[in-house]
Amino acid sequence: MITAEQTYLRTELERRRERLHAALHSPASDPSLSQLLTAVDDALLRIDQGTFGLCETCHDSVEAERLLADPLVRFCLDHLTSSEQRDLESDLSLAALIQRRLLPNLDLAPKGWDVRFHYQPAGMVSGDYCDLVETDGGLLFMLGDVSGKGVAASMLMSHLHATFRSLAEAGLPLDRMVEDANRIFCESTLAGQFATLVVGRATPDGLVEFVSAGHLPLLHIHADGVLPKDSTGVPLGMFCNARFPVHRLTLAQGDTVFLYTDGLTEARNRAGQEYGLQRIRALTARHVGNAPDGLISECLGDLASFAEGLKQADDLTLLVVQRQLPTAVPTQT
Ligand SMILES: [Zn+2]
Repeated sequence: MITAEQTYLRTELERRRERLHAALHSPASDPSLSQLLTAVDDALLRIDQGTFGLCETCHDSVEAERLLADPLVRFCLDHLTSSEQRDLESDLSLAALIQRRLLPNLDLAPKGWDVRFHYQPAGMVSGDYCDLVETDGGLLFMLGDVSGKGVAASMLMSHLHATFRSLAEAGLPLDRMVEDANRIFCESTLAGQFATLVVGRATPDGLVEFVSAGHLPLLHIHADGVLPKDSTGVPLGMFCNARFPVHRLTLAQGDTVFLYTDGLTEARNRAGQEYGLQRIRALTARHVGNAPDGLISECLGDLASFAEGLKQADDLTLLVVQRQLPTAVPTQT
C-alpha cells in the first residue's frame, strides 16, 4: 500500500538523488557521495517493491518518525548495528543538552509575579514545551505538548520554542501571535504533527490573558477554590487558518494559574487508574495559599504516592504563575 508518508518520502528521496547527482559532477566530489547515491537508489527500489520501512532483521515496521527524519533508515531501534547504537546515543545526549538549554531562565523576576516550573522528560528528551519571556507588555508564559515522542517530538518542541521566541519580540496581541505561530507550524510540519498549548500574558496589575489551543484545562486557584478553564481552540498545526480566542482572568494578590501536561493527568497507578483532573483540583484546593515552589512539590509528592513506584510513562511539565502578595511597607517610627 502506498501511504501519504511514502509519497512524501519518495519525493524527499528523489530530491536527495538530484542533489547527489549535482554534487557528484563537481570536480572535487567526495567518494562517499556515490555510496549515499546507492543508498538512496536502494530506498527508492524498496518503495517500488513494497518493502520500504520494514526492518531488515525482524521485518517489522521501522518507527515512522525515524523514517521521516531519515528515509535511509533500514533497521528498527531494536536491531541497530552497534555503531548505529552509539551514534543514536550520542545524538540523544546532544538533543537532551540542547533541550535543557532551551528551558527558561530560573532567576526570572517579572514585576508582580512569582513563577516556577518543573520539567521532567520521560526519556532523555521531551515533547513538552515550557517557556517564560519577559516583554514590555508583561510576562509571556507558554506550556504545551507536541504530538509523538522521542527525538522527533523534541525537534518539534524546539521549533515551537524558536517560533514563539521570535514572535514574542513583536509585541503582537495574543490571538495574532498564536495565529501566526499556527500558520508557521502548519507550513513547516507534516500532517499528523501538532501541538496543544496554552500561551498567556500576565501584567503587573493582575490581568492574565490566555489562549488555549486544545490544551488541558488551565486552573485558576484563588482563595475560594479552584476554577478550571477549558480550551476553546484546536491544537496548533491542525488548520492553517484557525482562530484562537483570547480569554481573560483577573487574579487577586496571591491567586495562581496552574498549568500541566498529560504526564500528570494521564499518569497511572498499579490498578491502571488515571491520576485525572479531579485529583489535581482537589490537591490544589488543599494548598491554595502555597508559594509556587511548595505547590509544585506537593503535586510531585502526590503524584509519586499515586504512581506507587511505577516508571514515569510520559513527559511531565508543571508551570505555576502566581500573583505576588503585597509586600509589607515598613512603618516609620
Ligand atoms: Zn527489527
